[in-house]
Amino acid sequence: MTGRHVLNDSHDNSELAELVRLRQPCVVLTGAGVSTESGIPDFRSPTGLWARFDPLEYGSIEAFRADPLKVWSFYKPRVAMLTEAEPNPAHVALAELERLGFVEAVVTQNIDLLHGRAGSREVVEVHGSIRSATCPGCGEREPLERVHQLLAEGDAPACPVCGEILKPDVVFFGELLPAAAIERASELARSAGLLLVVGSTLEVYPVAGLPEETLAAGGQLAIVNRGPTPYDARATLRIDGSAGEVLARVAEALRGEQPQEPQHAR
Ligand SMILES: [Zn+2]
Repeated sequence: MTGRHVLNDSHDNSELAELVRLRQPCVVLTGAGVSTESGIPDFRSPTGLWARFDPLEYGSIEAFRADPLKVWSFYKPRVAMLTEAEPNPAHVALAELERLGFVEAVVTQNIDLLHGRAGSREVVEVHGSIRSATCPGCGEREPLERVHQLLAEGDAPACPVCGEILKPDVVFFGELLPAAAIERASELARSAGLLLVVGSTLEVYPVAGLPEETLAAGGQLAIVNRGPTPYDARATLRIDGSAGEVLARVAEALRGEQPQEPQHAR
């Protein structure tokens, strides 16, 4: 099969379900497009958060070091919004596909914890998450619940030990990605019979390099995304559609089916 640029229809959904069943193990890579259906805006879109907030002014590690209170003025409502968001049918379907044995792991660029809350177990968060915040001064780490308590008392969460302002454990611009997570993501991408990309435009490195690793190791690529990606021509199947609708139909098609044993030791 060659890469195809197609509109979402039921035929494509069943073709994707068949690919997932046959091309084991299947590793899923998700981006902001998976969470937009939970009401979380894609901050890289032209109408997203960064259109109103300069990322270098609010989302960079330099900005945080220079003025953590200013950065928290942006992050406080964002953390509240992420905490209130609920998993959508895309998250639920991926968790079900994992339970059914069709998905080995989800590698995600999202920091919103929605995959885990939907029931996914093997989740690799390559951009960190809002699960915790760490003190740059003494290294004290506080869970999200405590960060919420601290935010209820002030504009920014102060370290209970030394008083410095805590930094969310999400990857800021200018920060290195968590090495262990990136290494695990690469390993998964290389071992994948199918890398299923959902809701990512594959423009942000190093995550954007993962499909290359899958293809180089002999695996195939399927893409479910609204709008083009640089890998479209190399994808076995490409569906331009809603992540929630497409994945719900894939999960439905695979209920009662068995994943095929991987054919090649990689
Ligand atoms: Zn501290």
